[in-house]
Amino acid sequence: MRKSKFVKLKLRHASFISRALLSTRHPVLAHLIPMRRCNLACGYCNEYDHTSSPVPLDIIKRRLDKLADLGTSIVTISGGEPMMHPELDDIIHHIRKRGMIAGLISNGYYFTPERIKRLNKAGLEHLQISIDNVEPDVVSRKSLRVLDKKLRYLSEYADFHVNINSVIGGGIKSPEDALAVARRAVELKFSTTVGVIHDNDGTLKPLTSIEKEIFQQVKKLGNKDHARLNWFQDSIAEGKPYQWRCRAGARYLYVCEDGLVHWCSQQRGYPGIPLERNIRLRSGVRLLVRCNAYTRSGY
Ligand code: SF4
Repeated sequence: MRKSKFVKLKLRHASFISRALLSTRHPVLAHLIPMRRCNLACGYCNEYDHTSSPVPLDIIKRRLDKLADLGTSIVTISGGEPMMHPELDDIIHHIRKRGMIAGLISNGYYFTPERIKRLNKAGLEHLQISIDNVEPDVVSRKSLRVLDKKLRYLSEYADFHVNINSVIGGGIKSPEDALAVARRAVELKFSTTVGVIHDNDGTLKPLTSIEKEIFQQVKKLGNKDHARLNWFQDSIAEGKPYQWRCRAGARYLYVCEDGLVHWCSQQRGYPGIPLERNIRLRSGVRLLVRCNAYTRSGY
């Protein structure tokens, strides 16, 4: 990412953060799903299918307009695999046109130099790729070996911020792979984070002692801001319950492919209100919904 663009993005973030602190009456982050279909089938995932069609662009634009009217700061496009949506560039362009920060979460498989240049042009600002292991296995094919070439393309051509997330837990066989992934991210000058993942029923299990040790090592290599914000993961790593002060439905909205607002990806169906109905946001200050203390909210 060019230095001038990085500084501009940081300034935009600062302005959004001050606005979020000054007023709690608008969502800070919305996850929007334009495509439930995925090209992969990770063993811990309950967020994909192999059959659904992309949501048409005009419908997505209407949802984005509604999010913008609610005062949303950041829209992160997620899936399934959103890079399979044929009009992803137009979606990103529309997010930017409506003055919101445009982010994308992808499994990384579809990045080519040409595709990255199109995303630059569309105005993408953030990309997150989650890499689960070094070698593909039965649980996950989001593997460093498979994706390294894509990471090199991103390092060379992307004019947006790239974060590589490594994961621990959820049945991932070799926890030390998270360290290899984080080191490669740092080498390519990306930021890096580590997440404790749930299994396919959405539940987090305490980490083993080796997993805990690696978790701490990876955190040291990573993004300090994220480590500060994600301190709740330390409780989860220790297997301790964490009493959420969940902002879902107020500062955070999860909008599925049917245009329904849910608390988060793991609480789909609740409350499941159409975004386009005149939804009333819950208070952003008080406790809104208490997640199961062992269930993670969102990504
Ligand atoms: S984790 Fe991501 S890449 Fe894997 S199946 Fe789920 S949506 Fe697809």
